[in-house]
Amino acid sequence: MKIAFIGLGNMGGGMAANLVKAGHEVHAFDLSEEALARAKDNGCATYTSVREAVQGAEAVVSMLPNGAIVESVFSADVIGQAPTSALLIDCSTIDVDTARKVGEAAGTAGYAMVDAPVSGGIAAANGGTLTFMVGGSDDAFKRAEPILAAMGKAVIHAGASGAGQAAKICNNMILGATMIATCEAFALADRLGLDLQTFFDISSKASGQSWSMTAYCPVPGVGPQSPADNGYQGGFAAALMLKDLKLAMEAARSAGADVPMGQRAEELYAAFAEAGNGGTDFSGIIKTFQ
Ligand code: NAD
Repeated sequence: MKIAFIGLGNMGGGMAANLVKAGHEVHAFDLSEEALARAKDNGCATYTSVREAVQGAEAVVSMLPNGAIVESVFSADVIGQAPTSALLIDCSTIDVDTARKVGEAAGTAGYAMVDAPVSGGIAAANGGTLTFMVGGSDDAFKRAEPILAAMGKAVIHAGASGAGQAAKICNNMILGATMIATCEAFALADRLGLDLQTFFDISSKASGQSWSMTAYCPVPGVGPQSPADNGYQGGFAAALMLKDLKLAMEAARSAGADVPMGQRAEELYAAFAEAGNGGTDFSGIIKTFQ
């Protein structure tokens, strides 16, 4: 299949390479020369504009930084440029309202489009083990599924247009809040004189258990291997967690939802990032409580 891929950064680079490995003809574009050179090394054909890359495409996949960029790329250079038979798939993490707006504009112009944000970081993008949460019609989902399966381990239909983004930010709002709760509990346990391995052994099998505790324990040397064992480097950056929490707060405002824990998590991650820790893994927020 001829697939145009827009945005070949930390995530998109590995994803495009996996489409090539699955036998697709990938037509790549990124504003960065460096990202394009890497895509070429990985077997993509490279282009000097979005418009050129989408010519004759059967599908267009994007992995871009934010909603404003997604909206401008799709409205200016994809819609009306790619054949209307092309399936449009945006894998970026963006706000629900923009995802719906772009999906609607694509639909009006005769395209099928899905929002398909991912769970999993750079290692999962490179390894082809991402989880995709997909928003769009049943037909569009059926068409997107085999393309996304070449880049991930799970592809889940979340609902109509925008539902993929809604699932993504709700999930990450839980993650932000449970990570903070886990960090403050370990810090308190320490002050109360508990051995932290012992506390892990208890809580990971009791009602305090969560993914943040058992799969990503924020204490070095406790639980499975995690960024805590690597000086809080190389995982999911606090700045990206903050981005997702801001999107969740925006969605909550727009939907009139009360999200006090998510709001507090956003405040704490904002303070952590402002203190110069934006590039630190998000579990490093434990330092705030120690
Ligand atoms: P990145 O900054 O590494 O990559 C984004 C790429 O988009 C860059 O190469 C940039 O040059 C390119 N770009 C920007 N504007 C463009 C334009 N107008 N046309 C073409 N290319 C353009 O970011 P990333 O870490 O790859 O993240 C991409 C998306 O994935 C974001 O929405 C992010 O929230 C989401 N995400 C990231 C992670 C992660 O761990 N990094 C995990 C899950 C989801």
